[in-house]
Amino acid sequence: MKWQKIKNFIENLIYPNKIKCMFCGDELNGKNSNETCTNCMETLPFIRRACLRCGVSLPDEDEGNVCIHCKKLNYFFDFARAPLDYTGRVITAVHNLKYDNAKYLITGMVDYMSDCYAAWDIKPDMVCAVPSHINRLKERGYNQAELLAEEFCARFNLTLLPLCLKVKETASQATLSFKDRRENLTDCFKINPDHRASVKGKNILIIDDVVTTCSTVNEVAKVLKHAGANKIYVLSFAHTPIPTDED
Ligand SMILES: [Zn+2]
Ligand SMILES: [Zn+2]
Repeated sequence: MKWQKIKNFIENLIYPNKIKCMFCGDELNGKNSNETCTNCMETLPFIRRACLRCGVSLPDEDEGNVCIHCKKLNYFFDFARAPLDYTGRVITAVHNLKYDNAKYLITGMVDYMSDCYAAWDIKPDMVCAVPSHINRLKERGYNQAELLAEEFCARFNLTLLPLCLKVKETASQATLSFKDRRENLTDCFKINPDHRASVKGKNILIIDDVVTTCSTVNEVAKVLKHAGANKIYVLSFAHTPIPTDED
């Protein structure tokens, strides 16, 4: 752990990314927050009005408190929230982290997640990141959800545990239809036998980078609930908006 901190310190000296905007790379001044320049901050797709259940951005014309999916579906988690819509520059940032090793983005991303979390009046007993399959982990070298969860837990003094394991490789959710996404994920997670006992009766926060349709986080929540978890919350950096014309 100590070595990791020294390594981060040295990396920051060599690559002082903190003085640049995490979205456009422009230089920052002392007044900027969340590693974001004034221009990006003004144009970011913040979720202003979230579905009370899944946290997706509610369209202006929707006057209710829950989205069209949450009216029909019942999730295993209690509620999910994200600070940003998964659109435009937010997509680019996530892709850079996921596929281009841009780990310097973690701090800024967790700044946004922390702002979102600060509005909650709950404190989870423990945190788990949405796990990657071991083959994916070998190929990429890291799980971006876990990196976000590590930084988040360090800030809030929360315990991060590998409560779930991904035991089945799945096709990328982005390429599948809504129905196929659910089937794709069936039985792909299981409880980590080492932590089964610690889940019982606990309130757990699941962290992911992006929530697309809630199918993935719902599968993780299902596994945790079946192992006896009490409340389950979900926090991500971004949430895909509901498409305007159903496709
Ligand atoms: Zn910028
Ligand atoms: Zn919803």
